[in-house]
Amino acid sequence: MDYQAVLEEVAAHARPYVRQGRVADYIPALEQVSADRFGIAVADINGDVYGVGDWETPFSVQSISKTFSLALVMAQSHGGHDSIWQRVGREPSGTPFNSLVQLEAENGIPRNPFINAGALVVTDRLQTLTGDASTSMLHFLREESGNEDLAFDQAVADSEAEHGDRNAALAHFMASFGNLENPVPSVIEHYFWQCSIEMSCRDLAVAGGFLARHGLRADGSRLLEAREAKRINAVMLTCGTYDAAGEFAYRVGLPAKSGVGGGIIAVIPGRCTLCVWSPALDARGNSVAGAAALDHFTTLTGWSVF
Ligand code: GLU
Repeated sequence: MDYQAVLEEVAAHARPYVRQGRVADYIPALEQVSADRFGIAVADINGDVYGVGDWETPFSVQSISKTFSLALVMAQSHGGHDSIWQRVGREPSGTPFNSLVQLEAENGIPRNPFINAGALVVTDRLQTLTGDASTSMLHFLREESGNEDLAFDQAVADSEAEHGDRNAALAHFMASFGNLENPVPSVIEHYFWQCSIEMSCRDLAVAGGFLARHGLRADGSRLLEAREAKRINAVMLTCGTYDAAGEFAYRVGLPAKSGVGGGIIAVIPGRCTLCVWSPALDARGNSVAGAAALDHFTTLTGWSVF
């Protein structure tokens, strides 16, 4: 497979979609990013990396961090990870990522780890396991991406905290059901920090390599059991792209996780991990050009999981 040629064709296909959406503005610091950006990268399972466009430009990972916090909780739980599934489900929610509506009827147990409520539970668990959830995440991402320069973006974390009433409400509501182990202010603070980490398409594609290698890191050491990597990929496929996961599976056919910074990471198990970035989002919160690019990538290569 000539990845470079495929990526160039995919980028050419996606460019007309680049401005067909809106940059997220509910976190004001995210609105500063130009809608014109587009980058895509592929890291294959042997460690070769290819990219086109703004593939080396850092952007706010936002909810893509939810994939890595879940992986880190599983990795740190040393086989006892099943306990996280007592506290969070693995069904698509069909509701927006920051919705409160299901939580009351479902006794404070979020539908899945990739909506905000579920991610707060995972961050809470990581805080218990590590004593410093966001710094552990940063170190983990530096190690997996091989980029020691990865950092939090303080302006984004502050902006999110300032406008974080919805996430605070989700956390307090779950705490009222006894589904948080740590104080609400600490859980949301670590969650905002983890969302503010800046990474490029290159960094994210490389860092997500263990998902394509059935749990193995680039150096061959084992981060997760194969069945754990399979589970994360399965939850990405069914829940990773907000309340458009069905549509995304229909169009792209890959496990994927999007973020409101405009990034989407996607996994082709046994082959490679992709990351695409373009900040303008559709109404559900997925990058318009990013989804078009991944759609075209699986069409060209025939490499969906179906
Ligand atoms: N930090 C964002 C929030 O909690 C993440 C949203 C996202 O990327 O889906 O609203």
